[in-house]
Amino acid sequence: MASWKDLWPVPAALIIFCAAALVGLPLYMHMQVSGTTGAYAPLYLYEHSPYDTIAVEAHYEPGAAPSDNALAGLREMLEKYTGKRVEVSVYGDLPKGVVNGPITEDNVGDIGEGILENYSKVQMGWAGGTIPIYIIYVNATGPAATGGENDTVVGISYRADSFFILKNYVDSEGLEKAVLIHETGHLFGLEHDDDPNCVMSTVMLENKSWESGGGPPTDFCANHQKELADRRQDLFYNARRAITYN
Ligand SMILES: [Zn+2]
Ligand SMILES: [Zn+2]
Repeated sequence: MASWKDLWPVPAALIIFCAAALVGLPLYMHMQVSGTTGAYAPLYLYEHSPYDTIAVEAHYEPGAAPSDNALAGLREMLEKYTGKRVEVSVYGDLPKGVVNGPITEDNVGDIGEGILENYSKVQMGWAGGTIPIYIIYVNATGPAATGGENDTVVGISYRADSFFILKNYVDSEGLEKAVLIHETGHLFGLEHDDDPNCVMSTVMLENKSWESGGGPPTDFCANHQKELADRRQDLFYNARRAITYN
């Protein structure tokens, strides 16, 4: 008959399995829903998320370089609302005209995928550590905005960990900072807001109705700040919200 010494691999395997199951949650999300903007919100925000470092990785084509001040504003926001370590790197490595044609809702995923396949540097840690936010700066035509004739889309978030900035439409550092924070807000699971003083307001991206008021909003409203704080405390924020409000 087997002694307990022969059986010790069983509890050992169980412990390893349980540990794997714990870190398996982010892995599962990574595999299953990476096509969905906001799907990584718990990984970016939850205070006990195994991801303790957010690596912002910006890539740009010639003539579409990011503004250092705008990226500094994004870093400040990330540190303030996630409490995590933030690293920012910028690469001018995209060829000119890397997007040759209008970006639409139908092709944005494939275009982004193709660019990141070739140029992304930091990869998401499999069990924790670093989680990237990829920002693709290009000069290109975006999808039609819905708000009115003169409306322009200047940023497009299209999957869980990355978004486009259409630099050719960005005419000020303030707007660039606002768009960076707005799109990152989407990655954090935030939705649009009617409050014109909130960075998640849609008017910012559409008809620049803030122009008379001295620049776009670059911070979240009190409600959205509360949502971000709640998401830091509650791993299952999305699930609970779906149950509560659906
Ligand atoms: Zn938006
Ligand atoms: Zn808001």
